[in-house]
Amino acid sequence: MVHMRFAYNLLIINLLFVCLWFAYASVKSNAYYRKIFRCLMWAGVFMYANRMFEIGMQDGFISCNDILLNIERIIHYVLTVVIYELYAFFMFCLIDQFQYFPKWKKMLLFLPGTFMCLMIITSPITHLIFYVEDGICHEGILFWLMSFIRASYAIVATVHAIVKRHLMPRIFGQSVILVAFFAVIQGVVFWSSHDETLYYTTLIVNIITFLLALTVVEFYKDGLTGLLNREAFEQYAQKEIGRKGHKAVYLVKLKNYEYIKENCRETSLLTVIKNLGECIKEYATLPSVYYLGVGRYAVIVHKRDKFVEEDFFDKLRERFDITFDLNGIHIHLNLFIAVMNMDNGKITTDNFYKYFSACDDIKYRSKEPIEVVYSDSLGIDQLQRYRNVEEAIERALVEKEFRIFYQPIVSTENRKIISAEALIRLNDRVLGYISPEEFIPISESNGKIMEISEYVIDNVFRFVRDNPLKDMGIEFIELNLSVMQCMDKKLTEKLEYYTNKYAVDPKQINLEITETAAIFDEERLRRQLAKIKQLGFSFSLDDYGTGYSNLVRVLEYPVDVIKLDKSIVWSAFHDRDNFVTLRNLISMFHDVRRKIVAEGVESEEQMITLTELGCDYLQGYYYSKPVSEEEFLAFVARYNII
Ligand code: C2E
Ligand code: CA
Ligand code: CA
Repeated sequence: MVHMRFAYNLLIINLLFVCLWFAYASVKSNAYYRKIFRCLMWAGVFMYANRMFEIGMQDGFISCNDILLNIERIIHYVLTVVIYELYAFFMFCLIDQFQYFPKWKKMLLFLPGTFMCLMIITSPITHLIFYVEDGICHEGILFWLMSFIRASYAIVATVHAIVKRHLMPRIFGQSVILVAFFAVIQGVVFWSSHDETLYYTTLIVNIITFLLALTVVEFYKDGLTGLLNREAFEQYAQKEIGRKGHKAVYLVKLKNYEYIKENCRETSLLTVIKNLGECIKEYATLPSVYYLGVGRYAVIVHKRDKFVEEDFFDKLRERFDITFDLNGIHIHLNLFIAVMNMDNGKITTDNFYKYFSACDDIKYRSKEPIEVVYSDSLGIDQLQRYRNVEEAIERALVEKEFRIFYQPIVSTENRKIISAEALIRLNDRVLGYISPEEFIPISESNGKIMEISEYVIDNVFRFVRDNPLKDMGIEFIELNLSVMQCMDKKLTEKLEYYTNKYAVDPKQINLEITETAAIFDEERLRRQLAKIKQLGFSFSLDDYGTGYSNLVRVLEYPVDVIKLDKSIVWSAFHDRDNFVTLRNLISMFHDVRRKIVAEGVESEEQMITLTELGCDYLQGYYYSKPVSEEEFLAFVARYNII
């Protein structure tokens, strides 16, 4: 009797303990494995309640009869099986994201447990697992099967966790071993004393051990996405990446991150980050998915993983080739994926980081929803060059080393220079001449483009103010706007500011934009352009014919001039079909009242043909390379007089 009351007290204390931990566990993360853990705890709580009921019957607080005892035993045995089943499910979800596995695999895991539960429920009739006689419960002939199934779940899950412990922070692996140790004690205690209270107490110790481990795991988890975080990634990379067995690392970047952050509500950004994380995790069906912050994810794939790269990309493509509505802002999400193949075994921890940050810095080139770059095509030398150019940009900004050159644009109507394109030049004292094609994309990815562009705008406006361009026949100067600039919220104000500062007529400035500017948010771009147009500026569409030009969409922008890229111009001189295409293109643009500039005119033949085809303006080395302000003015003075 005394013993019973003691057990009773102990139980209540334990129950409180469980509830306390339960409450604690519930507050945090919504990760799937957490939910299972909560189910596990609920099962524990029910088991305790049932146990108290049982003791109540034994101590005579509750009058006992065979039916009640049968019900109590069914609940008890079913819960013990469910707890082990959940434990295994929890482990698999935590380590392998089991929730995303095919249904049949999940069924396979739950089948033995479900089968056992059915046997337990029917046992009062079949007597296979247990039976009650005269107020006493006896073991049935298949009682061992229940113990066997429970033990199998426990062993399979624990061994799996130990084998795959490298995927988890070390503390978690240690806890799994600790729990296994307690479980063995639990078995021995129960086997020798048949004391269920002690049995439950060790169970509680196990649960708490897990909870503690989980709390530590939480340190390595990203709160928003439930994925492993940068901390975990770095720890893993430092320890493991050089070892054999790795196949590839995928760095997935949300290209629109900065844009959404700047322009949408914070909740929109969080939703996007979370959804993207879920999506990657789901398709990758791998444990090693990390969220590194600022819209960047990493997926580590091992040789033994069943992971098909093409499927992964296809599924992401499927999911992302739509427009998302972020609280009224319609956005096309774009991903950039850098793939680091490790098959060749050349990757060490050291150069992994170099590759990694190089991929992190790569400029975006494509408008496709998913852009993939392979690190094999990105050597360490290139990375060094990237860093050097970055330094040169910094130097040029500090020491005001950037120069603006002007390249004449000639009207085919009167053969006079009617305009000029402003092109930036950088002659670095260390690296020598650096093409804007190299440093503009770099400055776009590190944010320096804003400073550079202000410099360009300032210089061009000053140039327009200081010189009697109109009298010389120059109607407007063309100024390049990069993608980032087009998306800059303050672009309109900046242009207004410089217009006032230099008292320049906006009609004298034509802004060159590219279709890639529409990459993020077309709607917004259109609104921005409309506002700028109201100020009196005009637009040209640059680089028409490079890659991905959409005729219909071009007409939706307020551009007055289309600039045919030199590649499309040159190709017309090499191939009859291309020539016909170009001719039709020009006539089509004329039909919709757009003016046309042909770029890259290098020879007299090209000049004559393009004039015949009806191009309005021509630009190229045939007339002049881009030259300094003074040279340009002198050139115009000579050219336009003749
Ligand atoms: P883009 O806007 O397409 O500029 C035309 C490029 O073609 C210029 O190269 C020009 O020098 C070159 N080019 C002109 N005529 C000929 C020709 O007959 N033959 C050949 N082979 N090339 C010709 P550049 O100056 O190296 O500029 C490269 C790109 O850098 C530009 O392409 C533009 O996208 C970007 N860029 C240049 N200056 C600026 C700037 O101030 N701001 C921004 N955001 N981007 C700029
Ligand atoms: Ca241009
Ligand atoms: Ca161009």
